[in-house]
Amino acid sequence: MVNNAGFATKAIHGGNIRDAQYGSLAMPIYQSSTFCFDSCEQGGNRFAGIEPGYIYTRAGNPTTGVLENKIAILEDAEAALACSSGMGAITSALWTICAAGKHIVADRTLYGCTFSFLVNHITRFGVELTLADLSNRQELESALRPDTAAVYFETPANPTLKIIDIEAVAQIVHDYNPKIKVVADNTFSTPYLTQPLKLGCDIVVHSATKYLNGHGDVIAGFVCGKTGDINDIRMSGLKEMTGCVIGPFESFLILRGLKTLDIRMDRHCSNASKMAEYLDGHPKVEKVYYPGLEHHAGHETAKKQMLKFGGMIAFEVKGGRKAGETLLNNLETCALAVSLGDVETLVEHPASMTHHSYTPEALAEACIPEGLVRVSVGLESIDDILLDFEKSFAKL
Ligand SMILES: *Cc1c(COP(=O)(O)O)cnc(C)c1O
Repeated sequence: MVNNAGFATKAIHGGNIRDAQYGSLAMPIYQSSTFCFDSCEQGGNRFAGIEPGYIYTRAGNPTTGVLENKIAILEDAEAALACSSGMGAITSALWTICAAGKHIVADRTLYGCTFSFLVNHITRFGVELTLADLSNRQELESALRPDTAAVYFETPANPTLKIIDIEAVAQIVHDYNPKIKVVADNTFSTPYLTQPLKLGCDIVVHSATKYLNGHGDVIAGFVCGKTGDINDIRMSGLKEMTGCVIGPFESFLILRGLKTLDIRMDRHCSNASKMAEYLDGHPKVEKVYYPGLEHHAGHETAKKQMLKFGGMIAFEVKGGRKAGETLLNNLETCALAVSLGDVETLVEHPASMTHHSYTPEALAEACIPEGLVRVSVGLESIDDILLDFEKSFAKL
């Protein structure tokens, strides 16, 4: 592969190794927990890190290794680490970066389990947390402290599609203290639309369950960043703290999904932008949240840092939560399900489902309306998705 290859070429060929024995085109699944040594000397050298080679799948696996190299290439990272879930990636990174006496600053609008991990769990171990609106410069500046170890956010954020200016946040934080790790959850954007490391972040995390795998059949995650940071997160966070090791079969499925990431994202984005326009003009819709719409607060920033505006939409139905529930209950083609980034269109109600861990007060502080509906726009023919919604709106 040439050095300046395009995204699709990198997604298809990047990081691949040639199977010397049989010339297999697809990366084989090395479904093995452990790897044999030729001698005690060799085993000892591998443990000491003097000699390359695999030891035990919790510390690395050949199928997973190819996947990690490919993700690193796509995110323009020095290195990447695969985990058995997005939460595994997020917690492996934060357990490694933080310690008792340290402080985290996080945006208020987060995936529900990330929010709960920060608010209810890591704080039980002597780590302090400040939630702030990271799209507001003053709030970010006044949240930073001498003991701050990490600044954490999502963009676009789950579920309101709030946009955070990655370059501005990284600049403010690193001007204050270059040692603070700026961590971005890039799940909604994918490296096809945004590469946060290029914009100054230190670490990118992913739920690969979503667009990266893209087919609704795997739970997985990634951490990407500098080689030193990723080694620390692999050897401490993953290997000794969370133990959230991805299986070789899951790695194989994500390698398969990644081959079509850019064409899937192109269709997700064009379907979502058509749907956002449809909803924005709909008499039964109160408000639409989509970064591609000019009235979205983050539209200009999104234009600057995203190739396209993504495949996720949120909206409020006139008549609030009750009307929203009726709408969702009557959809036929679209699936009523959490998760996102799959080929199927998925709809859900954040306040009672993905963001169930938010109290009503926390929802209000994060500007997540009680009646908000979230749509992961799939790859179906867009006219069929819109017809499904139109029939369901007619029942309100
Ligand atoms: C789903 C999701 C996660 C958690 O990922 P899992 O793979 O479900 O553990 C984290 N962040 C965001 C933005 C998500 O949407």
